[in-house]
Amino acid sequence: MEAQNIQVNHCAVKKEKPNTDQLEFGTVFTDHMFIMDYSEESKWHDARIVPYQPLTIDPSSMVFHYGQSVFEGMKAYLSSDGDTQLFRPEKNMQRLNHSNDRLCIPQVDENFVIQAIKKLISVDQDWVPEAEGTTLYIRPFIISTESYIGVAPSAHYKLIVILSPVGAYYKEGINPVKIAVENEFVRTVKGGTGEAKTGGNYAASLKAQEIAGHKGFAQVLWLDGVEKKYIEEVGSMNIFFKINGEVVTPALNGSILEGVTRNSVIQLLKHWNIPVVERKISMEELQQAHEDGLLEEAFGAGTAAVISPIGQITWNNNDFLINGEKTGEVAKKLYDTLTGIQYGREEDPFGWVTKVKDGVTKIAQ
Ligand SMILES: *Cc1c(COP(=O)(O)O)cnc(C)c1O
Repeated sequence: MEAQNIQVNHCAVKKEKPNTDQLEFGTVFTDHMFIMDYSEESKWHDARIVPYQPLTIDPSSMVFHYGQSVFEGMKAYLSSDGDTQLFRPEKNMQRLNHSNDRLCIPQVDENFVIQAIKKLISVDQDWVPEAEGTTLYIRPFIISTESYIGVAPSAHYKLIVILSPVGAYYKEGINPVKIAVENEFVRTVKGGTGEAKTGGNYAASLKAQEIAGHKGFAQVLWLDGVEKKYIEEVGSMNIFFKINGEVVTPALNGSILEGVTRNSVIQLLKHWNIPVVERKISMEELQQAHEDGLLEEAFGAGTAAVISPIGQITWNNNDFLINGEKTGEVAKKLYDTLTGIQYGREEDPFGWVTKVKDGVTKIAQ
């Protein structure tokens, strides 16, 4: 499949754009979307950009019954020189195929989907918001669409990409959040689907999140599903702790989702010669570090918030206050550097950023 063959069917009337100071997360969608279909006979085919619209899908479509679906989350950033940029989209596409493999969904051509996303963004270029901190959120996803209510991998799929302008995550500056350690519910277990980005993991997480939300916590800190002893991740972010000068993040173990932000944080810390290790870390160890005064920082890392400092962790009714509930130095430096690279304000020593127009120029001619 060649990206220049993607058909574009433009919408007749463009929607009114929202005011950029009032943008919320994931409520407004652009004028167009990308779709392609899969069947066992034709493989992935009929790649097209069409006006954003509801889908007509048979009620017996397999996705409604057994949840065979995967998704990705990434952003397009408008740089100061007017270019729209993507941050490490190849990592998202590798992860999409990793998730596909776990859910028995056919592999996609990673490069083709990146080109398709670039083409879609260039069609909806005027939706990339300009205000400081705003982005165009990109949501690629795949659903199983065969009409059959037997349990088996579907023979038909749709890959769809939708775009949503989103507001600055931190409207009043970065503020550390309070999180609750979850001792009862688990999100996933090793051998389950935790390392795939699939809706089912989120369905499993809602109950704990709802209860914690009522108690005033922003997020739930998930422990391993077997012993409920080791720290895994927080909400939809990977987690990092700075303990006595060393940054620690839970090692990938089959149930943790490998974040693109997590990977970028580890690379940046190494680049700065700040010690960083990926290993198992238990709540008991964290409590001890806190009691000994060695727990210096805690923060989440994910595409939505980039870096989210954690000011308080509550475990069995004990509150650990971290860094006087202020944003730590390492968290701040990571946030400034990552957003600096994403918006093209800072040098990009790792070649993480790709310009939308580069892909599109290649596509056009
Ligand atoms: C998407 C996601 C993350 C963060 O991944 P990024 O690629 O950094 O956005 C972390 N944990 C879970 C469960 C996720 O779904």
